[in-house]
Amino acid sequence: MGSRRDERGIIDVPCPGTNRKMNDLSTAPLPANFRNAFFLQSASAIENAPADLGWEVAFAGRSNSGKSSAINTLTGQNKLARTSRTPGRTQLINFFALSDSQRLVDLPGYGFAKVPLAVKKKWNQQLERYLQHRQSLRGLVMLMDIRHPLTEPDQQMLGWAITAAMPVHILLTKADKLKRGPAQNTLLSVRKQLASHAELVSVQLFSSLKGVGVDALGRQLNQWLTDESVLEADEKS
Ligand code: GDP
Repeated sequence: MGSRRDERGIIDVPCPGTNRKMNDLSTAPLPANFRNAFFLQSASAIENAPADLGWEVAFAGRSNSGKSSAINTLTGQNKLARTSRTPGRTQLINFFALSDSQRLVDLPGYGFAKVPLAVKKKWNQQLERYLQHRQSLRGLVMLMDIRHPLTEPDQQMLGWAITAAMPVHILLTKADKLKRGPAQNTLLSVRKQLASHAELVSVQLFSSLKGVGVDALGRQLNQWLTDESVLEADEKS
């Protein structure tokens, strides 16, 4: 019909402050449907990752923290991320696509005692580099068993993320293992310990078994994977 509104089309300029880094995609992606996730590729090293374009969110946690279960619960797919029988066995980075421009990244579980020191060191360097330099990385989900959060390897990982100014969202997993009161106390205690980084770090309870916190996780991921102006328009409609 040729009205001014039609001619204006979609505004694809990201809001200041919502995008940690600009990338060269001309169109802001829509909120992700996590159920559409599909396996894209594995990489034995960051260098072999898909092209550094678009928007991605990585998941990291100690072996046995419940990372595979969380990814499977989020995507409603039982077998997307393999639930590990042997902790630390897989050292592959797995990429899952949500759309042409949005990805979830499953980083290898860390903190497994039996991994040789040299392997650990190499992997730590890679992780640090990934957090510092990966342009498409918008945020890091860190998973910690609610019964023992903020272990030494968790703090190391968190330190790298904070140094890289990378936003972190912590899931206190297996929340069903604690009663409501103790679970809330742990949540408050972890928030308190990280209060000085509150602008970068958020924390929530999560249980794959009971479905606790799945919607909250989805909202956080979409804040990272979607331009804020798109989310606002979506809420208004
Ligand atoms: P990963 O090694 O971090 O990928 O951890 P997994 O997802 O394989 O989970 C490790 C173990 O914790 C498995 O035995 C899971 O069944 C169990 N687990 C994972 N999530 C939950 C949860 O929400 N509640 C309970 N009770 N157990 C869980």
